Amino acid sequence: MKSAAPTALRGRIVTFRADPFATDPSSALLIEEDGLILMENGQINAVGSYDRLRHRLSPDTTLVSYGKALISAGFIDTHVHYPQLPVIASWGEQLPQWLERYVFPAEAAFADPQLARDVARRFLRELMRAGTTTACAYCTVHPQSVDAFFTESERLGTRMIAGKVLMDRNAPAELRDTAASGHAESSALIARWHGRGRQLYAVTPRFAITSTPEQLEAAGDLLRTHDGVYLQTHLAENMEEIATVRRLFPERSSYLDVYDHAGLLGPRSVFGHAIHMTETDFCRCHETDSALAHCPTSNLFLGSGLFRVFDALDRRRPVRVGLGTDIGAGTSLSHLRTMGEAYKVAQLTGRSLHPAQALWLATAGAARSLSLDTQIGTIAPGMEADLCVLDPCATPLLRYRTERCASIEELLFVLMTLGDERCVKATWVAGRLIHENAGDTSSER
Ligand SMILES: [Zn+2]
Repeated sequence: MKSAAPTALRGRIVTFRADPFATDPSSALLIEEDGLILMENGQINAVGSYDRLRHRLSPDTTLVSYGKALISAGFIDTHVHYPQLPVIASWGEQLPQWLERYVFPAEAAFADPQLARDVARRFLRELMRAGTTTACAYCTVHPQSVDAFFTESERLGTRMIAGKVLMDRNAPAELRDTAASGHAESSALIARWHGRGRQLYAVTPRFAITSTPEQLEAAGDLLRTHDGVYLQTHLAENMEEIATVRRLFPERSSYLDVYDHAGLLGPRSVFGHAIHMTETDFCRCHETDSALAHCPTSNLFLGSGLFRVFDALDRRRPVRVGLGTDIGAGTSLSHLRTMGEAYKVAQLTGRSLHPAQALWLATAGAARSLSLDTQIGTIAPGMEADLCVLDPCATPLLRYRTERCASIEELLFVLMTLGDERCVKATWVAGRLIHENAGDTSSER
């Protein structure tokens, strides 16, 4: 699904030259006020100022000009549950009760493969509308939920990570597998999908509460025996959850230690939430190069707590972090909204997240947290051509406010505070236009 024809995008390019948590955030940004991106065969060939690169526009190049709109790398959602789209915005519960009341019934419906296909299609269309070009997604316990998701992702040409949920206890009978059947089904899905085109597989035990020690061991075996597969699960999100884990695994020194003992930590492991972490936990994540997914809208919605992003990224033992929406506990698929909520969560912990740092967590930093930073997350030659175009004048208030912006940083901050899907003017995947928002009427391909 790659576009072979050369295409060029002109606009205000914003990407990164460095990690804004490791250096002055402003100088980490790479900005091209009148920039040009040359793309061919799904990849970026050249990036720079329009004046410097215009001579490389051949007669057969399609040039798309976006004026004052910002062109960023596509957003990357490091933690999301596509089957929970039907129960986004469900009232009144915290994590354990919310799972039982809303999530488990919604996931049970995925026994129907047609429903799985319908929700996968709608979910991925919503991601494109949000400018999100890669996600690390949970499916349900049903293998067909994974087939539905990857089939649609393959059709769009998106780079996605996903996996079948493993649950062999503390869940309704119709949502349970066993340590052996979960292992066998995951192995078959890995053989079918992992590394096929842009699709990547994640071994996906939901969390320690819903897997027996045998199932966690089986997950560890899947990781050890398949090159390059990911591990995604939840960690230290809610106090009641943590107390239950302590009761179920009294011999382990912490929640993280349950996963560590099963061999689930490593450079392709992504732990969602990690709100209630000790210094020992952070150190162990650093040692094993495990990554964390920060999901601010979900953590606020369920009242789970405040993720300490600056503690996680402490220069003495930094842990890789990316932003996640955690739909359906999260309240928006828009990473602009998620960046804005990450700012507010940081404010509640006494720190101010710089707009460059927020954008990093949604793009380049997220790519790094998924060990995909040589392929996606920045705009540079050789990178895959996944881009989103952000309109700073998408609403009357945005136009009014952004006209007063003195810098790109200020503009980014206004976008992440006031913006959402309405700001996503276009989404490009592997050099191909997948979503276009022309005011009232948006078109999907
Ligand atoms: Zn989650």
